[in-house]
Amino acid sequence: MPISTDQVFAQAREARLFAGHLIPGHRPSQAGRLENRTPIDDTPIGWIEAGNAEDVDKAVRAARASFESGEWSGLSPAQRKAVLLRWADLLEAHTEELAALDCIDAGKPITECLNTDMPATIDTFRWYAEAIDKVFGKISPTGSDALGLIVKEPIGVVGAVLPWNFPAQMYAWKVAPALAAGNAVVVKPAELTSLSAYRMTQLAYEAGVPEGALTLVTGLGEEAGEALGRHMDVDIVSFTGSTEVGRLFLRYSAESNLKEIVLECGGKSPQVVFEDADLDGITPHILAAAFWNMSENCSCGSRLIVHASIKDRLLEQLRAGLADWKVGLPTDPATSIGPMVEKAHFDKVKSFIDDTLEAGARLAHGGKIHDELGSGWYVEPTIFDGVTPDMRLFRNEVFGPVLAVTTFEDEQEAVRLANDSVYGLAASIYTQNLKRAQRVSSALRAGTVSVNGFSEGDITTPFGGYKQSGFGGRDNGLEAFDQYQQTKTIWYVN
Ligand code: NAD
Repeated sequence: MPISTDQVFAQAREARLFAGHLIPGHRPSQAGRLENRTPIDDTPIGWIEAGNAEDVDKAVRAARASFESGEWSGLSPAQRKAVLLRWADLLEAHTEELAALDCIDAGKPITECLNTDMPATIDTFRWYAEAIDKVFGKISPTGSDALGLIVKEPIGVVGAVLPWNFPAQMYAWKVAPALAAGNAVVVKPAELTSLSAYRMTQLAYEAGVPEGALTLVTGLGEEAGEALGRHMDVDIVSFTGSTEVGRLFLRYSAESNLKEIVLECGGKSPQVVFEDADLDGITPHILAAAFWNMSENCSCGSRLIVHASIKDRLLEQLRAGLADWKVGLPTDPATSIGPMVEKAHFDKVKSFIDDTLEAGARLAHGGKIHDELGSGWYVEPTIFDGVTPDMRLFRNEVFGPVLAVTTFEDEQEAVRLANDSVYGLAASIYTQNLKRAQRVSSALRAGTVSVNGFSEGDITTPFGGYKQSGFGGRDNGLEAFDQYQQTKTIWYVN
């Protein structure tokens, strides 16, 4: 029975929200449970089960048994599509509940959860359901003495390791294409945000996904995450999270069964504004790129690289635009900026503000910590002017609302500054000159380049990074199937 946002908020106040393992035969246990606190006001909202290597092993065994049995992997694509479409309908019916769970768990503004995250999540399931029965193999150009078929097959057991910043949506980005392609999936959500993953998985069973084909293990990265990364019977881990933890998964694979690893990691994405840009039109895009989701966004446009001649005018526009960005409790529909997800993360974001002031950059806007609100981990959108490439703020992912402004004099310098990063996830360029837009978008080393706006594309376009932002595959688009399928040649000799 779908429940409303208010009912979820009431359950949170009574600390009754729960997420735990969904593994066939598993009964939730009180042992080793982790208290779950909301970043909204740092109060307990319930608890989650802390998975260990044994739980992961049970989930992987169930996944392998399901895969081998063919109960899901052996269905025709059209049969899997029908189940996934039913699941999408159930997710839609539970939009309010799932949006409220992400709001409470991650501190994301409820309006965003309802109007952006959940529609995108549901759309992802529908898109992959509809796509999977339209994917064809190939026939090789042989002579009449042979027939060469090139077919795509599911890889087998997929481990999906998720971050906390878009809990429902990241779940969809991994699980929808992996299941559509016929794999068995073991999900490990972030320990900070397991609630929506738990409910979404329960709804999958209601829609008809077999329990072994989709399992969930909650708990800490260092325990459940590592156990999945090192498991000898997992065929691939698709990981989204920090570059630091992404590196660990490469090690886990090298030291276990050489499972495939796909990494979607961090970023320090540039927004390059040329002197001919339409400042009125682009201001909302620059602000969205820089501050959407409290900047807890991998593709956050956190470096504003602007032509020196228009910098002051642009800063004026940004300050005016920020008047509409309300910092407040995320349960308030008018709020655009909620709290940082946890105290340790808040401390890190604050340290960037302190360091950048000390390094000599000019505070052009914000900088205030709203310690009068709830947990006190609320950071006002903050802009630093005069940030140079040697500063920590220019180089490191903050994952909080702190924008670095750096100026350039000509196109070459703009491209050099934009590419001066170990990351390469996304970039935006703003210009009315079409030839320049074309030149600069090919020169930028980033997986997604938006021209005159901020966008990650949509479900139809592949998303992923260059350089240390990741490799091994792409989320979204038909390209996501490449992560979860392998290629087999079948050669008939006449
Ligand atoms: P994180 O790396 O801390 O955690 C991600 C996942 O890895 C979680 O499920 C966590 O439990 C697990 N984990 C943590 N330590 C582990 C360990 N030692 N062994 C195994 N697993 C471990 O990342 P986060 O803080 O949840 O998310 C923020 C990061 O994710 C940012 O860097 C952001 O840029 C990135 N991100 C990237 C994309 C993308 O598509 N490129 C999308 C969203 C977020």
